[in-house]
Amino acid sequence: MRQKAHDILFLPIKIGPVKSKNRFYQVPHCSGMGWQRPNTLARMREIKAEGGWGVVCTEYCSIDPTSDDSSYPFARLWNKQDIKAHAKTTERIHKHNALAGVELWIGGNYVANLDSRIPPLGISSRPLTNPDVYHPYQSKKLDKADIKNLRVLQKSAAKKAMEAGFDIVYVYATHGYLLSEFLDSKTNSRTDEYGGSIENRVRIVKELILETLEAVQGKCAVATRFSVEISDPETYDTFALLSELPDLWDLTVNNYEIEMGVSRYVKEGALEESISLAKSLTSKPVVSVGRFTSPDTMAKAIKNNFQDIIGSARPSIADPFLPNKIRDGKYDDIRECIGCNICYAHNTLGVPIRCTQNPTMGEEWRRNWHPERIQRSYKKESVLVVGGGPAGLEASRVLGKRGYKVFLAEASKKLGGRVIFESNLPGLSEWIRVRDWRINQINKTSNVEIFLDSNMTVESVIDVNPDHVIIATGSSWAVDGIGKNHNTPIKKNSNSTVVSLDSLLLKQNLPSGKVLIFDDDHYYIGPVIALYLVQKGYDVSFVTPAGRCGQWSYYTEELYQSNAELINSGVKIFTNNNLLEIKSDSVILSCIFSGKTQNVTADWIVPITRREPRDKIFNELKSLYDYKSLKLNSLIKIGDCEAPGIIASAIYSGYKAGIELGKNSIKSPSYNNL
Ligand code: ADP
Ligand code: SF4
Repeated sequence: MRQKAHDILFLPIKIGPVKSKNRFYQVPHCSGMGWQRPNTLARMREIKAEGGWGVVCTEYCSIDPTSDDSSYPFARLWNKQDIKAHAKTTERIHKHNALAGVELWIGGNYVANLDSRIPPLGISSRPLTNPDVYHPYQSKKLDKADIKNLRVLQKSAAKKAMEAGFDIVYVYATHGYLLSEFLDSKTNSRTDEYGGSIENRVRIVKELILETLEAVQGKCAVATRFSVEISDPETYDTFALLSELPDLWDLTVNNYEIEMGVSRYVKEGALEESISLAKSLTSKPVVSVGRFTSPDTMAKAIKNNFQDIIGSARPSIADPFLPNKIRDGKYDDIRECIGCNICYAHNTLGVPIRCTQNPTMGEEWRRNWHPERIQRSYKKESVLVVGGGPAGLEASRVLGKRGYKVFLAEASKKLGGRVIFESNLPGLSEWIRVRDWRINQINKTSNVEIFLDSNMTVESVIDVNPDHVIIATGSSWAVDGIGKNHNTPIKKNSNSTVVSLDSLLLKQNLPSGKVLIFDDDHYYIGPVIALYLVQKGYDVSFVTPAGRCGQWSYYTEELYQSNAELINSGVKIFTNNNLLEIKSDSVILSCIFSGKTQNVTADWIVPITRREPRDKIFNELKSLYDYKSLKLNSLIKIGDCEAPGIIASAIYSGYKAGIELGKNSIKSPSYNNL
């Protein structure tokens, strides 16, 4: 049953001329689907509406080819075709009695217009302001005619949005795009009526809000996405000049690393102080995010008047049915976001978002997967799942729901596999949600039996005599150094001490003295292990052939925080260096550009370069199976045992194995008509 305190989340709220049925609002968020995949997008957004979100928005939606963020996927409203494509989404959202919002977007100096080839239109002529893009282009300075034209374009896009069926139309004035360039005194160097005083800098935003209000003529609500920052009083002065203009404020903070921060650095409800002050300056409803997954925190935010509506991007990706679960009091079914930003990473990589917690994200259309509905199997068969890490747990959960008799055998005394160790590392505690949610779901089914302390062998698998076997035995970190930058083992002295990451995580006999990490993996684990060792009092050196520590975490938006943390904790960093040779008390590094070598003292080494699949049992069973001396209906390997990767891949692999088991014909995903 729902707790009374949470009723507040289900009070309808007026947003200008429209009304949301509740306080759950999926704010605009990137999907990686963009204008190229209208069906994929429509189905994904529909499932959010089905899951109870009162409002479901698009991602950033370009008003004109002068705002072209290719090669990143973005939405657009340029022509009739685009209107038709968006109508698919709005129709599906409306089917579930939710409102559809569109975030009209003007790129400015942040984008390069690589596809449209039109010079980017910036507040001044300068190199692109996106700090992580090094395109050799510079923007054209907007002249008066361009500014006038922007008003026409925004108005025209707002009309197209109405035609596409949207209920809420945005003016997007943050995140470094054109309107924030106008607002910010550091980027706005204009000497005309659009630069200088706050009144001048805010002028364009005011004009666009008015143009949009005029375009929609009271038939849609007009929202404005805007940043305020408690440490920057001027943001409130600016806000005050606009505070009563739009029908809704979608507020955030200036620092994207906070707004979109990984759980390593940012916890739930982190924007509260900044947002609540702005809320006190307007009578219009305010929506804001904060990676809210706790109904108590959400209800408190509304009750205490910090905001009126609970905005969400990531929690709605991890659990599209979060509102309905709260509505129905099914609190322990909520699949909480772990704050890993794998979703965001894939958008930045130019592909549909995926999610560590929700393997169906991005597959709603292509594979017809649904985050809540799992079809039962009529077959009364048994499945032995070997290994209780993320992959094995997910496969067991899905198979349990499908009605199979499942035996889950785990060698250790605990379920969770790599997640147990990794969630104990600095900043990663929320990652244990991956395990906990799955165990909880499994415990709700009577047909999954768990066997701990059961190190399976080929013989014991045969003894169980199941109909199907799924091997999910994971992988082990290799110590030979082979990886991206070494095709053969790294040369090493016989007196050197090389420790595998697995034994380090298991806390077995850590040596004393200076430690050197060679990170050729390039994601979070190297930097996090370095911090873990610093906390244990070690003198740590960190070597990477990449230009930055944990280079891939650029995609998850944690690169800067992570590198700053390493620098501040005193780790000695050697970037752009390969590990050439390991001696007894030092290593030889080689510059990846010049080949110039240097000696660095180290008493022991932790190579983080690759993992070896633990597939011995699988291979032995497979040869018996192939020679028909083992009777099984199917035998597969999944997760890291099949191909070591990120946790999201292991969960995906477990889900796929579970959902597809026993199906004679699996409709192969359609790569056309996306
Ligand atoms: P994944 O990410 O693919 O799920 P993990 O390494 O996290 O992989 O988990 C694999 C799990 O399999 C670990 O908990 C490990 O203890 C377990 N395991 C490995 N070998 C066996 C085995 N022979 N019998 C039972 N469990 C095993
Ligand atoms: Fe949350 Fe990670 Fe899923 Fe993104 S990928 S929604 S951060 S769990």
